[in-house]
Amino acid sequence: MSSLYQNFIGGRWVPARSGRTFFNHNPATGEILGEYPASSSEDLDEAVLAAASAYRSWRLTPAPKRAEIVFRAGEIIRERKEDLARAMTREMGKVLAETRGDVQEGIDMAYLAGGEGRRMYGVTTPSEMPNKWAMSVRCPVGVAGVITPWNFPFAIPSWKLMPALVAGNTAVFKPAGDTPEMAWHFTRIFEEAGLPPGVLNLVFGSGAQVGQPMVEHPRVQVISFTGSTEVGLGINATAGKLGKRVSLEMGGKNAVIVMDDAQLDLAVEAILWSAYGTTGQRCTACSRVMVHAQVHDELARRLAERARALKLGDGLEPETQMGPLVNESQVKTVEKYVAIGRNEGQLVAGGARATDGALARGHFFQPTLFADVKSTARVATEEIFGPVLALVKIQSLEEAVAINNASAYGLSSSIFTQDVNRAFAAMRDLDTGIVYVNHGTTGAETHLPFGGTRGTGNGHREAGHTMLDPFTEWKSVYVDFSGRLQRAQIDNN
Ligand code: NAD
Repeated sequence: MSSLYQNFIGGRWVPARSGRTFFNHNPATGEILGEYPASSSEDLDEAVLAAASAYRSWRLTPAPKRAEIVFRAGEIIRERKEDLARAMTREMGKVLAETRGDVQEGIDMAYLAGGEGRRMYGVTTPSEMPNKWAMSVRCPVGVAGVITPWNFPFAIPSWKLMPALVAGNTAVFKPAGDTPEMAWHFTRIFEEAGLPPGVLNLVFGSGAQVGQPMVEHPRVQVISFTGSTEVGLGINATAGKLGKRVSLEMGGKNAVIVMDDAQLDLAVEAILWSAYGTTGQRCTACSRVMVHAQVHDELARRLAERARALKLGDGLEPETQMGPLVNESQVKTVEKYVAIGRNEGQLVAGGARATDGALARGHFFQPTLFADVKSTARVATEEIFGPVLALVKIQSLEEAVAINNASAYGLSSSIFTQDVNRAFAAMRDLDTGIVYVNHGTTGAETHLPFGGTRGTGNGHREAGHTMLDPFTEWKSVYVDFSGRLQRAQIDNN
């Protein structure tokens, strides 16, 4: 018997008004895990009104007090880290070491955002006039609508909701349909940490039934979205017509560059982890390697050998190195791209669904490697979001940078070289939001800004010292204590 979960609206756990529900599944075993409200715009509307009402007092709660609740939530997450990680592996498949890392990002973010409550620095500056004070302060925006994907079901809500709440916004949270349980835990923890009713509201349901009405809702002042570029751009178009503030974190096609002077052992380890970790389902996953022609064949041989040896299975088993894809539709996408890739490069590892023994019950796919792929091939340019890697031969750093920067996406990139001049040139020239030197494309730390250029984003960065930017407006305040009218914006000379 699966458990029945509810929405969280105005501090109460309630079913969808329609009574309709949906189920979540374990992608490694097919087991049903729980039943959730399939909400509609009616439920969303209630949640937005609850958030708008709670905003009146939450915005006036001192920021250090707001932040204390976020910090306390971080302490609860820390106590429950292992249980949360296990629940996450059951729900979306990645191996325990990775789900522990996902939960840890929630803890790190709670501490970082908690500290921000005692900073939230504004700026003071001299006025043009005598006896006049000038400053600018951060203000909350209002009700934040938060829409998240399934691949980092604890970390991504943390990056968005924790800064939003510290800044004094209230929120309505719509998680992905594949990972409702993690959103439920997240919200329960904030309830336990003492968040007042209505400050955080949770509405389960589909993008069409809950996400779209959220974007269109006149009382939602800011949308923070992470997910595919296709959906993100649709949201941007709707929000644009309404003049609504929107922060987008979207797809990626992240590249590692391996130069002829690279430490190949290190590059192999890093590429394996970046390409096949989380079964290739990270927005920062490496899915193409621009490798110098002199080391291409050697790298292909070593990567293929290591990819074939990866142990697939249920992420809860300690020996498992790669879990399943999240659902059947993702398997179909990967199968489609592998069929395309067969005509675009040389298949040197994997290429098929993995069905040995218990794997047949889940959505498993072999770690797949294509060598000698053209830089313009579809497997080298389109986001696949699965364990599929393409090697592209290059002759120079300039060529690799040009290929990287021609991509529709710009999240993360990396270079392996021992040459400091090449490393610095790459840091300067690679047009992505994140650049790594002698490290793979994954592994962001919460206290640095996170986000990407081109099709990956719309100029915002989450986390780091930029965490409050999407969720605050600047207000400039002038205080004239001269006792007379001093006019600015007029020629006083
Ligand atoms: P998705 O775009 O299918 O869904 C993301 C969220 O949007 C879900 O909650 C979904 O229900 C909702 N949604 C769908 N249609 C909507 C609509 N019309 N209006 C409003 N909301 C709607 O993405 P996904 O499959 O959950 O996640 C995978 C994608 O996310 C990949 O493209 C990956 O690169 C991207 N991603 C990006 C980052 C980043 O920081 N750049 C991080 C993680 C994942």
